[in-house]
Amino acid sequence: MTIHKTIFAAAALSASALAATPHANAQSAMDQGYNSLPSYDGQDLELLVDQNGTHFALWSPQAQDVRVNLYRDGRNYGSNYYVDMTKDEHGVWRGSSRKDLTGWFYTFSVLHDGKWLEETPGVWAKAVGINGKRAAIIDFAKTNPEGWEKDHGPELKSYTDAIIYEMHHRDFSVHPSSGIANKGKFLALTEKGTVNGSGIATGIDHLKELGVTHIHILPSFDYNSVDETNLPANTYNWGYDPVNYNAPEGSYSTNPSDPATRVREMKEMVKAAHDAGLGVIMDVVYNHTAVNDDSNFSLTAPGYYYRHRPDGSYSDASGCGNETASEREQMRNFIVNSVKYWAKEYHIDGFRFDLMAIHDIETMNRVARELHAINPNIIIYGEGWTAGDSPLPVAQRALKDHAYQMPGVAVFSDDIRDAVKGHYSREDDPGFATGKHGNEETVKIGIVGATAHPQVDYSKGNNSKKPYAKSASQVINYVSCHDDLCLTDKLYRSMPGSTEADRQRAARLAQTIVFTSQGTPFMFNGEEVFRSKKLVHNSYNRPDSINAIDWSLLDKNADQYKYYRNLIALRKAHPAFRMSDASEIARNLVFDNVKEPGVISYSLKNHANSDPAAEIKVIFNGNTKPVTVKVPKGKWTIVAEDGRIDPAGLGESRGGTLTVPATSALILTR
Ligand code: CA
Repeated sequence: MTIHKTIFAAAALSASALAATPHANAQSAMDQGYNSLPSYDGQDLELLVDQNGTHFALWSPQAQDVRVNLYRDGRNYGSNYYVDMTKDEHGVWRGSSRKDLTGWFYTFSVLHDGKWLEETPGVWAKAVGINGKRAAIIDFAKTNPEGWEKDHGPELKSYTDAIIYEMHHRDFSVHPSSGIANKGKFLALTEKGTVNGSGIATGIDHLKELGVTHIHILPSFDYNSVDETNLPANTYNWGYDPVNYNAPEGSYSTNPSDPATRVREMKEMVKAAHDAGLGVIMDVVYNHTAVNDDSNFSLTAPGYYYRHRPDGSYSDASGCGNETASEREQMRNFIVNSVKYWAKEYHIDGFRFDLMAIHDIETMNRVARELHAINPNIIIYGEGWTAGDSPLPVAQRALKDHAYQMPGVAVFSDDIRDAVKGHYSREDDPGFATGKHGNEETVKIGIVGATAHPQVDYSKGNNSKKPYAKSASQVINYVSCHDDLCLTDKLYRSMPGSTEADRQRAARLAQTIVFTSQGTPFMFNGEEVFRSKKLVHNSYNRPDSINAIDWSLLDKNADQYKYYRNLIALRKAHPAFRMSDASEIARNLVFDNVKEPGVISYSLKNHANSDPAAEIKVIFNGNTKPVTVKVPKGKWTIVAEDGRIDPAGLGESRGGTLTVPATSALILTR
């Protein structure tokens, strides 16, 4: 996600490796003290408006006094209006006004250790003014788009039926070639009929045409790094620096000063996606905050929400200066109630947890349980690793290796990612799809969705040494995301002397492996048009010139785009690629015994998962030369061959000894 993460995060250290690492495991005495504080799971925290007036309630069990400051404005002008608060049960301070304060802004001030702390909008601000400094009292009913009562996202039988497209609001729409008016805004996705310079669909129409089922939006809660008072500066950031977890980011709205506009436009974005048949997944970053002592957590209940080292300093498993403490009851309540809030108020269809292993297993299971009680179609997945060591014992961490303890949660497969395209940070390291031998068994771990399979030898896995998924629905397969080199750039670095045509061919093979594997496929925005990030790894704060997708590539790389569309269509046409149950995969997915290195061949048999085809034969040749393979004789339909793909068929084959051209997939059905 952010500055330091790429150094450690994607390494996905196994639990055993971490256990062998000396770390500051013991909880600090200070942290142990927090465990005895009362917690409160009520839904009325911080602000509640009813017929009797406006009610404030701040959880701050160690405060000596708390007051509410009221303002007419989101940033300027001081206040002459206060609401006094008194300590109630469960560590909660309460105060009320009989007035209707709609349209006002507020902050809390906490007296701690004899000192008044800086003002804070609290941790539960659902609407905020510019730069998120003050919370706002608005009428949420008035922020709902037309038809919101009937709005809902796509239904999902299994996570494996989802096809996830990871996008940043600016990357997607800010380039002049997008033809989109609301560049870099939530509203970009509400614009239908947009086209590039030669009339080819962009925006939401493009996503519909591509065929993905869910868009995963990079952090869209209120984050720190873009100054909302100076939007003409066009500052870019991924947004992994949280400020207000429960309010939308201002720079993506057309008017960050108006709290209701921020909320309404984000809802309009969700509604437009739903109307187009797409789900919306939010990237959530509960594992750390943008700042330490001045965060809303710290100014509300100093120390409580974070883990510390024995010397009292902030521990830092996020690589961003601090880490939160999900094992502590009020932090756990916060995470659970926050995602539930987004699911209910904004109709969000899924959550991607940044550095999920900083959180504990119990928290993630509660997240899954309570979200699925609201909406069983919600997808939950995360990075099953940390970016540094943590005081949280390894056994409690929501690590990739512990996925089997979290049946409702999926984890990113760094196995398939690094095996197919090469190591994520060693730029020149090639992978299976670019001619490297030795990664075959790790690619097979990806193909079976990291489930136990009798023909996969996990001891030969590059990253994981044992199956970690109970079902394939617990695995997100991918070869690139916002982190590190995008696929186009990775191929450029790892295929010296290659032509662009060679690299596009390798990209097709790499993504064909991902999109035919068991598990949920995930792709990075713009890869369907072979976008580049100009060889920049960690582009989190780089300008639009690096990050924006140039949609004239729809013309230049029209064939590449067509391949992606057909690849997605192929996956959708064949449920056999979308099994979830591990025993079904073990029974129906049969690898062929291939001696040639750099080649993988397997069949999906028995009309797997009610597939119309009795058998699908999938063969990948990662070598830079053609190979021959043996396929049972019979009447086959060719659906992928030599860098082309078409679910309706490219021709017929009688099987026997077949040639698979260099760097390509051969897929046959019967
Ligand atoms: Ca912000």
